[in-house]
Amino acid sequence: MSQESEQGTLYVISAPSGAGKTSLVAEMLKQDEKLGVSVSHTTRAMRKGEQDGVNYHFVSREEFEAMINRGEFLEHADVFGNYYGTSQVWVKQTLATGQDVILEIDWQGAEQVRHLIPDCVSIFIVPPSPEALYERLNGRGTDAPAVVERRLNEAADECSHAVEFDYLVVNDEFNVALDDLLSIVRCHRLRMQAQQVRHSGLLTRLSERH
Ligand code: GDP
Ligand code: ADP
Ligand code: 5GP
Repeated sequence: MSQESEQGTLYVISAPSGAGKTSLVAEMLKQDEKLGVSVSHTTRAMRKGEQDGVNYHFVSREEFEAMINRGEFLEHADVFGNYYGTSQVWVKQTLATGQDVILEIDWQGAEQVRHLIPDCVSIFIVPPSPEALYERLNGRGTDAPAVVERRLNEAADECSHAVEFDYLVVNDEFNVALDDLLSIVRCHRLRMQAQQVRHSGLLTRLSERH
């Protein structure tokens, strides 16, 4: 196998807050062991039920800024007044082992990653309606009313960038959206460019005259 074939694929997933991306990605990981998710660094406060190093690496603004200055982020952005960023080393090392990596990041981060890693696959997830988004964000019960308000206000801005992504998934029925996401990954693995390398022996044998 060539070096190229061993590189994993980078999937960039964005969505307005509350659309269901974290729940969908968690389920994708359970169903596909070749997928891994990058744990971002953030300066936002930890929610009830979240664990440092699992949902995010929770750091102070000072620590985050020191990491920016040391060039430790593949991308970073200010989202809803907090810093969020993706570890450069973890992503590159994990892709190099052949594992596929998912980034759950906002549109600003997605834009940066597209320039740095042009062969990444980007997916935008939307809720079925603005009302459903409102209900999900409130129903999740993790954020104060003012925080929910801010996230809803910024949802339209996030969604205005949907067309910049390769794929659009509507998260109405959870299992349908999950299936759509897993299908995107599966199709990508079946592209000739990847399959040709994976099955070069088979293709050679089949094209020999017997
Ligand atoms: P949730 O999406 O409602 O669960 O809210 P979060 O607080 O987990 O995430 C807030 C925003 O930050 C979302 O738009 C995420 O996509 C974005 N985000 C999370 N991690 C990163 C990251 O590492 N980099 C960037 N650029 N954005 C991130
Ligand atoms: P995000 O990570 O995009 O902010 P979450 O995964 O936290 O979104 O989902 C927001 C809320 O919506 C959660 O309470 C989740 O259980 C719920 N949710 C996700 N997908 C669906 C769906 N298809 N139908 C109904 N509720 C959903
Ligand atoms: P939350 O605070 O609800 O966990 O996340 C809010 C938003 O931050 C989400 O839309 C999420 O995609 C984005 N986000 C999370 N991690 C990162 C990251 O590492 N980089 C960027 N750019 N956005 C992130």
